[in-house]
Amino acid sequence: MKVLVLNAGSSSQKSCLYDLDESLPLLAAQSAIEPPAPIWEAQIDWTVQPGNAVLKIKANGTKVERSIDSIDRSTDTLQMLNTLSEGETKVIHQTREIDIVGHRIVHGGQHYRQSVRIDQTVKDTISDLAQFAPLHNPANLQGIEAIEQSLGDVPQVAVFDTAFHATLSPAASIYPIPYEWYEKGVQRYGFHGISHQYCANRAAQLLGHELSDLRLVTCHLGNGCSLAAIENGQSIDTTMGFTPLEGLMMGSRSGSIDPGVLLYLMREGAYTIDEVEQVLNKKSGLLGISGISSDLRQVTSSETEQSKLAIETYIHRLRSGIGSMIGSLSGLDAIVFTAGVGENSALIRSRTCEAFRWLGIEIDPEKNQSSPVDQDISTRSSKVRILVIHTQEDWAIAQDCWKLSR
Ligand code: ADP
Repeated sequence: MKVLVLNAGSSSQKSCLYDLDESLPLLAAQSAIEPPAPIWEAQIDWTVQPGNAVLKIKANGTKVERSIDSIDRSTDTLQMLNTLSEGETKVIHQTREIDIVGHRIVHGGQHYRQSVRIDQTVKDTISDLAQFAPLHNPANLQGIEAIEQSLGDVPQVAVFDTAFHATLSPAASIYPIPYEWYEKGVQRYGFHGISHQYCANRAAQLLGHELSDLRLVTCHLGNGCSLAAIENGQSIDTTMGFTPLEGLMMGSRSGSIDPGVLLYLMREGAYTIDEVEQVLNKKSGLLGISGISSDLRQVTSSETEQSKLAIETYIHRLRSGIGSMIGSLSGLDAIVFTAGVGENSALIRSRTCEAFRWLGIEIDPEKNQSSPVDQDISTRSSKVRILVIHTQEDWAIAQDCWKLSR
């Protein structure tokens, strides 16, 4: 079974193709086997130059990169899909061999608690929810339409980043503002759900426990950062909220700040709404404080006072966030670190866990430094396991496609 996964963002689009043995997803759900690697991976980047896009393909052990004339998203996507059946990245004879296509959809609102087959109603809902996710949902929808135009009536599946957090209680999802706003959909939705859910399942596999027996804090630390408190396999708290701006300090996003700061800036007339949005999303976080970069590697190597402050603030907020997630759980069995920073930064992991030594949480310094992948890096005597898990959102989407194709 050939499953195409599409992750369409506002300025780039990532895609991959899995060739699945019929029994594999079932086996993967039951045991700790390694998720399979995709047989083809592609990325289109529209940020380089107007009218141009950079297409990168990885397949058959080779990597190809070329600049293409960008016409529109559908035509560019078609060019990308052509590389599946042409040239040195050819992995199938024709695109008709693709059985199903899975899309990562950022916002599913209150409507979707799990993945669904895409039809006109689903598309209309994704479109309506663009009011809550103006940077993401329209791009996701364009991805769906691009596939319709290139692959006809192939079955398509929507996998929502908000769905895993649909189990948040009203107390965890409501903002303490007038109740009518809650009724109009202004509430905490949470994001990165595909990754948090994948990591929770993988943690249960690695620990040899039923997920229903575990209390977990999963830390997704990439360019965007969020935490989830998971009990009984369900998300009961998370740091992102109405938008992916709430919560932890991130690469270029501020995370939570006093809303009074925004009122002050707007009352002063110094910034328009669009400018404030741009600053909070693109010029804050590690980049905002360090003035150097949103990439942790560059901030750590620069060693300026502002860079040091950026890292200390990042750690301070991460520790506070984990403390807050622990407060929502009635105990803790494991902390999971995932995504670019979580998987690769021994410094962030050790400095974060240090704060919780008094709870009996002990990181093993050697294991922490050993570039762990899907490993337990806590000491034997630690009261809580500390896991590093390579997040595989595309694989999680492919598994949902497989389930919905049954
Ligand atoms: P995204 O959220 O866009 O999917 P990633 O999960 O790939 O991003 O995370 C990207 C971030 O991971 C980079 O900005 C960088 O800060 C961080 N990162 C990647 N590798 C390392 C590393 N070896 N050490 C520290 N940080 C790293």
